[in-house]
Amino acid sequence: MSASAANLTDSYRHKGLRRELLGQLRTMGIADEAVLDAMDRVPRHYFMDDAFVHFAYDNKAFRIGAGQTISHPFTVARQTELLGLPKGANVLEIGTGSGYQCAVLSAMGYKVHSIERQKALYDSTTPFLKKMGFRAHCYYGDGFKGKPVFAPFDGILVTCGAPFIPEALLGQLAIGGRLIIPLDDPNVGEGKQVMTEVRRVEEATFTRQTHGTFAFVPMLAARSGSAD
Ligand code: SAH
Repeated sequence: MSASAANLTDSYRHKGLRRELLGQLRTMGIADEAVLDAMDRVPRHYFMDDAFVHFAYDNKAFRIGAGQTISHPFTVARQTELLGLPKGANVLEIGTGSGYQCAVLSAMGYKVHSIERQKALYDSTTPFLKKMGFRAHCYYGDGFKGKPVFAPFDGILVTCGAPFIPEALLGQLAIGGRLIIPLDDPNVGEGKQVMTEVRRVEEATFTRQTHGTFAFVPMLAARSGSAD
């Protein structure tokens, strides 16, 4: 779900609020200027329901309909930073949702592929991203399977809480590429995940690092035609 035409203007007020948010992200430890600059160029309020538009620049996650959320700005910044990729990189996102993270990846200058398992979200977000001029290839499908025809990916970013690392995603990483995935972990509690970075250093060698606790909606198996 996204803003109505009335909210598709990026006023000085919106720009000012966005700069304030970027200042908060810096204080919270986001240091990659390319990421902050990309987030400065994506009006987050475009991706939110009219009812929440006044909160678009609070550092919070929001529900976007169909029981899903638009990720927390800090989470979007951190995940994008963790990819650590130059312009032109081939990137796969799992969980298109509102399209906000997808737009930030597109603003980074990446070639973006994004998969969403909920038909209703796929149907509304795909034309919206195009209309707003954010270039991304969107697919309706199951993120556990990845997108083998467009592999290898320099980076794969999962934006839902995964119960385990999907084997297919590891196989679709380029050598040197990173998978950034929030993983369920009984030690951090129900509904919370540990941000995990898996790097493919050689064909069959992967290294693993963790980056703190986050909260995501669950990564669910198979496609769904209905809002669940
Ligand atoms: N990146 C989004 C975050 C949306 S929340 C944004 O910036 O708004 C996570 C999304 O992951 C939801 O839209 C949910 O439907 C989707 N999702 C959950 N399981 C999935 C799966 N197996 N494959 C693809 N998408 C999935």
